[in-house]
Amino acid sequence: MLPPAAALLRPAINEHQGARMQPLVLMSHPDCLKHRIDRHPESPERLETLMAALSASHLADGIEWLEAPMASQQQLARVHQAQHIHQLFALAPRARLVHLDPDTAMMPATLKAALRAAGSVPAAVDHTLIHHRPVFCAVRPPGHHASAAQAMGFCFFNNLAVGVAHALQQPGIERIAVIDFDVHHGNGTDAIFAGHRQVSLFSCYQHPFYPGTAVQTPYGLPLPAGSDGQYALQQISAHWLEPLQRMQADMLFFSAGFDAHQADPLGGLNWRSDDYRQISALLMQATRATTGGRVVSVLEGGYDLQALSDAVLAHLSALTGTAYP
Ligand SMILES: [Zn+2]
Repeated sequence: MLPPAAALLRPAINEHQGARMQPLVLMSHPDCLKHRIDRHPESPERLETLMAALSASHLADGIEWLEAPMASQQQLARVHQAQHIHQLFALAPRARLVHLDPDTAMMPATLKAALRAAGSVPAAVDHTLIHHRPVFCAVRPPGHHASAAQAMGFCFFNNLAVGVAHALQQPGIERIAVIDFDVHHGNGTDAIFAGHRQVSLFSCYQHPFYPGTAVQTPYGLPLPAGSDGQYALQQISAHWLEPLQRMQADMLFFSAGFDAHQADPLGGLNWRSDDYRQISALLMQATRATTGGRVVSVLEGGYDLQALSDAVLAHLSALTGTAYP
C-alpha cells in the first residue's frame, strides 16, 4: 500500500532530524543559450535566469554541474525517422531564419543547441544509473512536441524520448515511467511511446489547449483552464499513484514544463511554485522503492522568468529531498 497522500506532502527532509542532503546533478551547455529568435518567448534568458537562481539558491552547494554532450546520430535514430534528422541538418541556416512552423524557427546556432539538449538526456541516464542521484537537464530548445518525423511547438528533437530510448538499451532497465506536467500536451512524446510495452506516460495538461492533439496514453489527465495546482494534485493522487506503483518502474523521468504556473504568459492554469514541489514529491515517493533514485528531469516550457526559476527550485527541492524556502 502507498502511504496516504497527505503524509507525502510535508517537506521530505527535516534538517533537525539529521536527514542527509542528496546532491543534485545538473546537465547543461552554453550552446543551449545561443539559439535565439527575436521576440520569441522561448528565449535564452529563460536558462540564464534559471542558472543564476540555482547558483544563488539553497541547492547551490549540492549541485554537480556537468556539460551536456551532443546527441549522436545513433541516439537520435532510436526515436526519430532518418528523414527528420536529415532535414534538420539540411535546413540549418548559415544566416537568417528558417521557419519550420509559425512558432518554430532555426537560426545558425539552433542545430547545435538542439543536439546538446537531446544529448543531455542520454548522458543524464548514464550518470543516474551509476550514481543513483537525480539529474536535471537544464537545456533548451525543449522537446516534448517533437514527434518521430516532425519539429513543432518550439521543439526540434524529442530530448526526453532520446534519453528514454537510450535507457531502454541499458541492462536492468525494463520499465520506465514518464511524468509530463507541462501545461501543453506532450504530443510528440505521447505518439513516440504510444502502445510501448516498457514506457508509460503520465501526462497532465490544460484542455482544450495547444496543440489540440488526441491523447493516446491511458494516463492522460486533462485540466480545465483556470484550475489550480491543488486540483491537479488531487487528480494525480486519485488517478496516477496506483498505476505508478503497480508498474514498478526502474527509472522515473520528468518532462518538466513550468508553464502551468499562475504567472506564465502562455498557459492558462493557476499553479503556484510550491505546487510543483508537492506534486514532484508525491511522484518521487510513489516510485522511490523501485527507481532507487534513478531519476532524470528534463526542462520543457515555462515562460515567465521569475516563475520559471521559482518553480524549478521547488521541483528540484522535491527531487533532492531538501526543504523549499
Ligand atoms: Zn508548454
